[in-house]
Amino acid sequence: CGIVAYVGPKDAAPILLEGLQRLEYRGYDSAGLAVVNAKGLKTRKVKGRVADLAAAVPARFKGTVGIGHTRWATHGAPSDVNAHPHLDHEGRIAVVHNGIIENADELRRRLEADGVVFQSETDTETLAHLIALMAKEAESLEEAVRKALAGVVGTYGIAVVDAQRPGEIVVARNGSPIVLGIGEKEMFVASDVAALIRYTRQVVHLEDGELAVLTADGFHTFTSDARETAKEPFTVDWDA
Ligand code: GLU
Repeated sequence: CGIVAYVGPKDAAPILLEGLQRLEYRGYDSAGLAVVNAKGLKTRKVKGRVADLAAAVPARFKGTVGIGHTRWATHGAPSDVNAHPHLDHEGRIAVVHNGIIENADELRRRLEADGVVFQSETDTETLAHLIALMAKEAESLEEAVRKALAGVVGTYGIAVVDAQRPGEIVVARNGSPIVLGIGEKEMFVASDVAALIRYTRQVVHLEDGELAVLTADGFHTFTSDARETAKEPFTVDWDA
């Protein structure tokens, strides 16, 4: 339903919670976030309101890269476990996802046959396991996401972080909006401009089939066959 992400010099969690609040008007049944720091991934997710999530996030929840989500369940009941982010079983990759993975059952059967143990009933969790599998061989997180998505049928806006690359977010869009927000030595992501305009007016809309890599220093966008695309930032001139 709603996606936010942040990479920069600040603590990500308060920025993610604020962004999720701005997306609440769209409706949702659960909320969650993940941050990355030098020790790895930290996640919290709850069935309920963004305020319940904020109450569940401890004061020490440090990490300057993170992703957040409000879920509107399509695959699996609303619950703490089915809330996003979803992680692979080694806890390396975390994914938030808007949309529906149509071949999730088939992907899940194949992954389970290879010994992967699922935590949730969601279609989204297949993405976390697929990206983690690809990340073992890939030279970048972008490559791992791109190769994982090559086997995925369905609609998605996703944001992905990797515990082994704690300065980076990869996002991808196919049928579900993803907007990048350009800051001063920081970058933002949201599924809806409304979550960004408190922080920046300079935005870039991804097209279907595009991916982006974000670091504190900026972003690069790519097609699904790894060609870099040139994007002109757009200045948002309306107020939320
Ligand atoms: N299909 C995913 C799920 O049920 C994402 C739903 C959404 O867009 O919030 O978890």
